[in-house]
Amino acid sequence: MSPSSIHWQIATVKSIRNETPRVKTFTLGLPNWKRHQPGQHYDIRLTAEDGYQAQRSYSIASEPERKGEIDLTVEKIENGEVSPYLHDVLVPGDLIEVRGPIGGYFVWEADTKTPLLLIAGGSGIVPLMAMLRHRAAIGDNAPACLLYSSRTFEDIIYHNELEELQQRENGPKVFHTLTRIHPTGWKGYTRRIDNEMMKEVIQPLGPTFQTFICGPTLLVESAAEELVRLGVPPTQVRTERFGPSNPAQGG
Ligand SMILES: Cc1cc2nc3c(=O)[nH]c(=O)nc-3n(C[C@H](O)[C@H](O)[C@H](O)COP(=O)(O)OP(=O)(O)OC[C@H]3O[C@@H](n4cnc5c(N)ncnc54)[C@H](O)[C@@H]3O)c2cc1C
Repeated sequence: MSPSSIHWQIATVKSIRNETPRVKTFTLGLPNWKRHQPGQHYDIRLTAEDGYQAQRSYSIASEPERKGEIDLTVEKIENGEVSPYLHDVLVPGDLIEVRGPIGGYFVWEADTKTPLLLIAGGSGIVPLMAMLRHRAAIGDNAPACLLYSSRTFEDIIYHNELEELQQRENGPKVFHTLTRIHPTGWKGYTRRIDNEMMKEVIQPLGPTFQTFICGPTLLVESAAEELVRLGVPPTQVRTERFGPSNPAQGG
């Protein structure tokens, strides 16, 4: 963490957007904005009147090209301490304590040469979205594929934007899998990530690519294992786990 990232600052909630029934995006204006690397996160700290504090990490969803503000996309965990507060109490105009950007391992900078494989489960899409938005902003044309596992169609975060990015020239190829319920006529996958699926997803990328996997622990571990089984060197695979081990793939 650089010195300016360690210091807490008071952000202003500029807007709040519903992404899915359980997920909202918060746009925060930052007095000490600093360019982030896609994949990095901010910490949020809440302080109660009696001085009790709770702190959680949230990945940056927005691209670094957007100056002065960041987007954080948060899934509401029903019995959680912090995410229900953000969902149910916070309103535009509120002030909130944050620090960042933080993280130096799960980060990606577009280099226009190396193909990119992104694998997400549930809210694990958030840091990968920052990568896709950055990729689009700088016009990176190296091949990119996203494999995104969600429970149901309604749980897919950023669905329309992902479609829109995919339609663009040199846009990423987006593969969805729905692990619980799928709508009639659904053309994507309908199962957990497996060997066959992984083979199809990596096929357009050629032999060498960088991989970022983010989501619930079990999804991250099984996706990384499938890749290694397919001969991908572990050094090409970076992972980030959100929350506790969760048997339900897709968050
Ligand atoms: C580097 C990093 C980046 C992150 N980025 C994001 C992000 O972009 N968006 C986002 O929504 N979350 C993200 N998280 C998770 C986030 O930090 C919190 O853990 C999450 O919001 C739950 O906090 P809470 O206070 O609401 O629940 P807590 O009070 O921490 O937990 C309440 C209960 O829910 C369980 N629980 C906690 N997290 C989960 C989960 N993910 N799934 C299922 N059960 C859970 C706990 O075991 C506990 O039983 C990130 C975590 C890390 C480490």
